[in-house]
Amino acid sequence: MSRDLANILGFNVDMYSFEQAVDYAFYNPGQVVTINPEMIEFALKNPDFAKIISDAELVVPDGIGVELGLRILGHKVHRIAGIELGRELIIKFFTENKRIALVGAKPEVVALVVKNLNEEFKNINIVYYHDGYFDDDEQILDSVSSSSADLVLVALGSPKQEYFINKLKKRMPETTMIGLGGSFDVWAGVVERAPKIYQNLGLEWLYRVIKEPKRFRRIFPTLPLFVLRVLKERFCKNK
Ligand code: UDP
Repeated sequence: MSRDLANILGFNVDMYSFEQAVDYAFYNPGQVVTINPEMIEFALKNPDFAKIISDAELVVPDGIGVELGLRILGHKVHRIAGIELGRELIIKFFTENKRIALVGAKPEVVALVVKNLNEEFKNINIVYYHDGYFDDDEQILDSVSSSSADLVLVALGSPKQEYFINKLKKRMPETTMIGLGGSFDVWAGVVERAPKIYQNLGLEWLYRVIKEPKRFRRIFPTLPLFVLRVLKERFCKNK
């Protein structure tokens, strides 16, 4: 399956449906990035991070910001929530008897996620897990690669997880790896996901800001700035 890409502010985003993205990630090892406006803004200021996104094997539009941006540019795209893609990948790799590893979140959180997965999926093959609070990247990278996992879920928050996966991918060229932000906290039940109504309206970010007001500074002015940039790109292109 060849990639069907849209470009937004210089970054390629795959236009797959949810099901296609799951299949693509299963059959094509490499780095899966769930991209959002904060990541694009960060990438515009950090060329090394921009390169990681450009080199990723799959980039899915996570959240309303990138969906809106792509629609402004004339692409009809549906957002793919990283947390849902992550869960579906677990199911797919489990069904195919593949090896799974998890890195990220607090020790008790990742342990609870593993416990929940073991309860939900009988004989799931979790070959390695570790919390996300470590100083020595190399040691964890070594341990993950020795596990020979087929799927590695990394929940360190962005951009940390993308840098980590980028290093890991050089050691594990046959593995699918995805950065999942705060998903382990939700799976462990320590953080509540926004109710469906917020999700459907694309307002999950608003719910998270209400629950955790310090997130406000992460989203503003990034989100409006991002939309302005996209509008400018569209305007300039059409001149
Ligand atoms: N985290 C981690 N190591 C760190 C910093 C953060 O494992 O050094 C974890 C943190 O415990 C949380 C996740 O990374 O589970 C980040 O969650 P956040 O909601 O900030 O990420 P987002 O989804 O907004 O990218």
